[in-house]
Amino acid sequence: MTNDWNPRTTAVHAGTRRSQYGEVSEAIFLTQGFVYDTAEDAAARFEEAGPDEFIYARYGNPTVKMFEDRIAALEGAEDGFATASGMAAVSGALMSMLKAGDKVVSSRALFGSCLYVLEDILTRYGVTVTFVDGADLDQWRAAITSETKAVFFESMSNPTLEVIDIKGVSDIAHASGALVVVDNVFATPVYSDAIGQGADVVVYSTTKHIDGQGRALGGIILGTRDFIRKTVEPYMKHTGGSMSPFTAWLHLKGLETMDLRVRAQTATAQMMAESLQGHAGLEKVIYPGLSDHPQFDLVATQMGKGGTMLSIDVKGGRKSAFKFLNAVKIAIISNNLGDAKTILTHPATTTHQRLPQAQKDQLGITDGLVRISIGIEDTDDLIADIKQALEVAK
Ligand SMILES: *Cc1c(COP(=O)(O)O)cnc(C)c1O
Repeated sequence: MTNDWNPRTTAVHAGTRRSQYGEVSEAIFLTQGFVYDTAEDAAARFEEAGPDEFIYARYGNPTVKMFEDRIAALEGAEDGFATASGMAAVSGALMSMLKAGDKVVSSRALFGSCLYVLEDILTRYGVTVTFVDGADLDQWRAAITSETKAVFFESMSNPTLEVIDIKGVSDIAHASGALVVVDNVFATPVYSDAIGQGADVVVYSTTKHIDGQGRALGGIILGTRDFIRKTVEPYMKHTGGSMSPFTAWLHLKGLETMDLRVRAQTATAQMMAESLQGHAGLEKVIYPGLSDHPQFDLVATQMGKGGTMLSIDVKGGRKSAFKFLNAVKIAIISNNLGDAKTILTHPATTTHQRLPQAQKDQLGITDGLVRISIGIEDTDDLIADIKQALEVAK
């Protein structure tokens, strides 16, 4: 889906399909199936070369289709397939393209469930997975060979906010004929040109910034029409991880305000990071928009802005980090991100609890680390809240 609109127009209008009633807000087609005028029509629709119309909601649905077309247009992808969750998108993208004997190279710093899919599930079916330090292009160069079928990485890692060079990794992968699959959640569609920078497949958990108000799980796989229709669709429609029409409607509404929310969240994140830098209660502040971030120059060219997430390392380890979390009054303790509400997470004891200590050390997940997903509340209120809680934690 491409058009000549700018992203903010695309996010509001692309993909709209109006019914005969001409509704303003997109209709929710809460229907499992579709009626055929005649037996001949039914037979024709099931033929592979038959009319591309709706058959069954697991295969496709008009509300879901609006969402797929809108976000594909926004991302500059030819097509998309919406899924029941972000993990259905990650696993669907990988499982649909891989078979026993294939080789995958992945960055090591991954969301826990992504790591499980790569490390535990794919390997069970005979796929070999090699992990590298994603920020080090030399490691990608050494690991990717002509036998590599696909590479996988999160363009910004969770929770230490390392940024991976999409163009750099894509150039290396393409020289060996490997497909590049990018989990782009932390970059958000607002700060993404992942396809322009070389990604073949882009995956989002639409649960995050796209919903943006913590209501429903969803995901999407974006890529070429050929890949989405010939590889992803048969896998998804037969294994059942399709998005519900109600979720698609919520996420269409989310897309309308995403740009405004994400830019406001990012502006606050930048101000918060700057005002916390050098704070006596902190070991460090990690934010991709700070000039001391190791990939600051790459962030400027790849995303343009530092995004909506920052991490702080509270002095005094877990005890102080917990004191800090318990003292915050506006922000909430939870594990979603990209929400309108500011959310604090202690990765070492929640999202990354399962990891052995050695792996936590390797990934920089210290006991004092707190991940902050900035919401859309007032910037001054948020900074004051975080600072008063840091005083309590001292
Ligand atoms: C949340 C998240 C997922 C999984 O998405 P769900 O919608 O929770 O299934 C995958 N990758 C990243 C980077 C995430 O943040």
